[in-house]
Amino acid sequence: MANHEILCTSAARRAAFGYMDHRTWCTKARRVVVKVGTSTLTGGGREPNRSRLSAIAADVAAVHRQGREVVLVSSGAIATGAAHVGLSLPVRGISLRQALAAIGQPILMAAYGRAFAKFGIPIAQVLLTREDVEDRRRYLNARNTLLTLLRRRVLPIVNENDAVATEEIQIGDNDNLSALVASLIDADLLVILSDVDGLYNDDPRRNPKASLIPLVERIDKAIEQLAHKTRSPIGVGGMLTKIQAARIGTESAVAVVIVNGDTSQPVQRVLAGEPLGTLFLPTGRRLASRRRWLAFGATPRGTVIVDPGAVAALHRGKSLLPSGIKEVLGDFQSGDLVVIADLEGREVARGLVNYSKAELERIKGLRTSQIEAFLGYKGHEEAVHRDNMVVHRSLMEERGGGNSARSR
Ligand code: GLU
Repeated sequence: MANHEILCTSAARRAAFGYMDHRTWCTKARRVVVKVGTSTLTGGGREPNRSRLSAIAADVAAVHRQGREVVLVSSGAIATGAAHVGLSLPVRGISLRQALAAIGQPILMAAYGRAFAKFGIPIAQVLLTREDVEDRRRYLNARNTLLTLLRRRVLPIVNENDAVATEEIQIGDNDNLSALVASLIDADLLVILSDVDGLYNDDPRRNPKASLIPLVERIDKAIEQLAHKTRSPIGVGGMLTKIQAARIGTESAVAVVIVNGDTSQPVQRVLAGEPLGTLFLPTGRRLASRRRWLAFGATPRGTVIVDPGAVAALHRGKSLLPSGIKEVLGDFQSGDLVVIADLEGREVARGLVNYSKAELERIKGLRTSQIEAFLGYKGHEEAVHRDNMVVHRSLMEERGGGNSARSR
């Protein structure tokens, strides 16, 4: 997605969007995560209600039709499971919640499947746990899956894998999960559909004079203090988890909007630039920090020697394909950092590799169409995707200049 490329760094994004109209963060967003919570789906009832779910699907489908890439993060598995077996919320006890999620998740997905089928949009279920975002290898796997679905115009619907997530490995609430997903896929915007209008300067349930804060440029202590621990009666999150999510999002260069999910067509209207809810401006430079992590943070586990054609392709911003690989040194697993070097052994780039050493040994030099036959399964097209790579020129810049290639 060419348009997405220009949005890569916060600075570039600011330059592209201009400072004046902050809502262009919404109108220009190409990749969007929408989070819908249990209370928005149930509308105060016991279980996700069909008309609310259809309205959300119609709203999301409309922005999908605009050509944007959309990921939906939806709660509601536990509530659906509870209603199915005749229990009322809230349900306490981790094993019961796990069981109810296992019951409710497929029912919820079937409902989404029907709702999005009306708009001709195929859906996919992606269930994540904390380890999937913390462990670099699993992080890359999750990222690859989500990006592949988006490329194929499928709508991924994400939830926490509640059926297996015990407390120690839980993310715990879908506000934080949605921000982690937005960060994982380099989204431009996260829209959190809430049961309140946005962030207020006081608790609106207690103080009728409280007023909505339309724009937060930076989440400071004062903003954090506004996030009273207002737990929603049936969902898990309150404003506290929403502010945590906004922090993760904005520090990852994602703009975040908290908006009332009960408004009509909230997603379309936010993306049309209507000043609804609270907009949190991105502050972070996630790609820069990731590039730093690639350049300095991690220890390379091996070296991949590539031919001159591949070197030229890398300099043109392309991914490294197995066809350009001549030799594989060291010992690494998929997801590890490797150095990419030319035939003279000079470092050209470094990046996170999609294959283990043993796999690359089998497919080096092969064309993409041959990979499956040699591996016995359909692997990734790219040995190292350009999104997970720092090429030599920028590597040198990030090391503080210098032109000389380092040889190994
Ligand atoms: N993952 C939970 C569910 O689907 C909800 C978590 C939340 O409400 O934030 O029921």
